[in-house]
Amino acid sequence: MNNNRRVRVRFAPSPTGALHVGGVRTALFNYLFARHHGGDFLLRIEDTDQSRYVPGAEEYIIQALHWCGLTVDEGVGIGGAHAPYRQSERQSLYRQFALELVASGNAYFAFDSAEELNEQRAAQEASGNSFIYGAANRGSLKNSLTLSPDEVKQLLAQGVHHVIRFKMPENEELVLQDIIRGEVHFNTSLLDDKVLFKADGMPTYHLANVVDDHLMEISHVIRGEEWLPSLPLHVLLYRAFGWAETMPLFAHLPLILKPVGNGKLSKRDGNKMGFPVFPMEFTDPDTGEKWHGYKEDGYFPEAFINMLALLGWNPGTEQEIFSLQELCDHFSLERVNKAGARFNPDKAKWFNHKYLQEKPDTEIAASLALLLEADAIHPDAEKLVKICQLLKERANFVSDIHAASRFFFYPPRQYDEKGVKKNWKEETPGLIRELIQLLDGVADFTSANTETAVRQWVASKEIGLGKLMNPFRLAVIGVADGPHLFDVIEILGKEETLARLSAAVERLATK
Ligand code: GLU
Repeated sequence: MNNNRRVRVRFAPSPTGALHVGGVRTALFNYLFARHHGGDFLLRIEDTDQSRYVPGAEEYIIQALHWCGLTVDEGVGIGGAHAPYRQSERQSLYRQFALELVASGNAYFAFDSAEELNEQRAAQEASGNSFIYGAANRGSLKNSLTLSPDEVKQLLAQGVHHVIRFKMPENEELVLQDIIRGEVHFNTSLLDDKVLFKADGMPTYHLANVVDDHLMEISHVIRGEEWLPSLPLHVLLYRAFGWAETMPLFAHLPLILKPVGNGKLSKRDGNKMGFPVFPMEFTDPDTGEKWHGYKEDGYFPEAFINMLALLGWNPGTEQEIFSLQELCDHFSLERVNKAGARFNPDKAKWFNHKYLQEKPDTEIAASLALLLEADAIHPDAEKLVKICQLLKERANFVSDIHAASRFFFYPPRQYDEKGVKKNWKEETPGLIRELIQLLDGVADFTSANTETAVRQWVASKEIGLGKLMNPFRLAVIGVADGPHLFDVIEILGKEETLARLSAAVERLATK
């Protein structure tokens, strides 16, 4: 194996549905590895299984990578020296490779019909065994190993339904290398003679994947752990083709696990527990079922990517916040863990919170403006920036700021009952009337000025600050807690603040 070649990696999804977070993480790790080594990141669409094809899935994959900021160097939608990158468009080239393996004795034609195989299966299962088409029984089934060359020729000439199967070596102990797992052992006697080329004229995943990785000069195959069982077949295919010298190195990424309990994170977990497992919203074209997306739920792509990078990879330090560039700089496959990574939806929110704090306020304000527009509210830009500055600390998403900002645009419709009971006393209306006069006299209505004036006045009256502040807050925003009240009234302005105070005195007097 050659370690000094140009780094070329590929993300090779099958368009069988929306890309799950696990798939995005595979794409991300490939991307980071390519960028770290100044190599190429390819996108190849593996759509040879027509029965599992889902319309719209390919577009979804491309848009999701784009949203995440993972730019592709070569591939579907981009082109490149090895085009086409969609396997269905490469269909004509695979059969010759399968035939080459038949000619070299590494594969064979199998003519068994589905009924014949079902019979064999039933017979095996009846005697408590499971059926595999392999070394133990291939000598008694209907294939080019058991039929005469003339019979085979005839069947092929007649166009009889057939597949091409790999002839798995018998009882060979394979010791293979995985960058993340180290040595992995397989015994070929446990493996079946996988179909390489199907009766419908399409290659299977295994053949197309290996042929394309070879032709596209892929140096490293980085993919999910679920493909580890395919590794021996793939390595044997490289060997059979005579490509062992340029075979890519392999890295199988750990699973992403459910937030609680055992097993792989599934799309159902997301709906059950209220978090997205897809980067963007997706509507299943068959069932009409709708799935949440990180994008539409208000996550920043940088936060989403940062969270995903730490699912299975660790930088070896305490640092948690990484820009995409920093991830490219630090990433290495040696620091990817073997063990599954537990998905933590709260941590995802935490990342978004952190990124929200770092965003320029003008940018947050622009997103908030869009949400307010839908409510037919059009405040000026300066006011919005102030609102964002004040509310972002308690928010994970711009939508949290939106929800928390209502009181800036609407006076309280009602007042929190418990708060009123606790804080609105007999002497309160009198105090609030005095407060109105005091605030009216503050010429420059800034947070600092009103706060100084109120504190001095309260001190001179020798009452506790709470005695005033709690009803003051209730009157202005209707509830007993919230952001720094003097900042709130600065944004509201003098006129609105005084109007709300007067309204509260009037409305609460009758209680
Ligand atoms: N088409 C496979 C998938 O859907 C690719 C696996 C691989 O990377 O080899 O994940």
